[in-house]
Amino acid sequence: MARIVITGGAGFLGSHLCDLLLERGDEVVAIDNLSTGDISNIEHLFDHKEFTFSQRDVSDFILVPGDVDAVMHFASPASPIDYLDMPIQTLKVGSLGTHNSLGLAKEKGAKFFLASTSEVYGDPHVHPQTEDYWGNVNPIGPRGVYDEAKRFSEAITMAYHRYHGLDTRIVRIFNTYGPRMRANDGRVVSNFIVQALRGEPLTIYGDGTQTRSFCYVDDEIEGLIALLDSDENDPVNIGNPNEFTVKELADIVIETIGSSSTVEMHPLPTDDPTQRRPDITRAREILDWEPQIQLREGVARTVDYFKTAVAL
Ligand code: UDP
Repeated sequence: MARIVITGGAGFLGSHLCDLLLERGDEVVAIDNLSTGDISNIEHLFDHKEFTFSQRDVSDFILVPGDVDAVMHFASPASPIDYLDMPIQTLKVGSLGTHNSLGLAKEKGAKFFLASTSEVYGDPHVHPQTEDYWGNVNPIGPRGVYDEAKRFSEAITMAYHRYHGLDTRIVRIFNTYGPRMRANDGRVVSNFIVQALRGEPLTIYGDGTQTRSFCYVDDEIEGLIALLDSDENDPVNIGNPNEFTVKELADIVIETIGSSSTVEMHPLPTDDPTQRRPDITRAREILDWEPQIQLREGVARTVDYFKTAVAL
């Protein structure tokens, strides 16, 4: 049993992590400023005796009394509309927030786990993306606030590993979806499901030929925990390698729901990557992990969540 601090603990991924770590007997200290996280994601844990929550911004100094075995840094806006809306906060939590989280891990002699992203590959020229690809990122474009913050966070994590000997993990998370995404999150899976359930047109940005590879949240969390428990210090891609165009995703969502919705074309956001697919050879080899839940099944489960848990 370990005592684990999770920044961004009330967020989509952070809250699922809290659940699984508590289930396996760990103690969890969740920190979140609730800028994009939601208290309803963790309310069910408030009576759990191994769970505590503190509403704070990790871009400011972090104080956690007592022993800590691991610090998992998941705090950050993660949807393009959120980081475009909060560009400075996004840069701060990726830089100052990562620095503070690393400082906490160093002070406690704890393991440090960084939630990085496929966005470090930008609009990739190597396909599928392997971890040794350095990426193609526009540093001054609107997405740069997220991409460069995460690239900095990887750099400072490796510096703490090399210079201070900190035991570190870096995961590069590819598009993940599932229960607890916000209805107004702005990402493609939640947008399409909510639009299809409301009978509104699905908003396809660009011509819908751009691709993504969507990982169901339960698979993603299992991969994250396998990496936490491993000895791997270099970055590892965790995602589902099955690749779909945005148009194919729209068709799957409409079909799953049996919706009468049509599709509607909108302008493509600046620097929107044209293709994205993880090479998960390293995750398979090092962690013996690969995703089990494929897109149609995962979309059906997510539709059930939006039907029951979200006011549409
Ligand atoms: N997208 C879309 N319609 C939407 C939301 C997103 O066509 O309502 C597109 C977006 O332009 C991108 C892809 O879907 O090409 C994935 O977008 P998302 O925001 O989910 O994640 P990203 O991978 O871009 O961070």
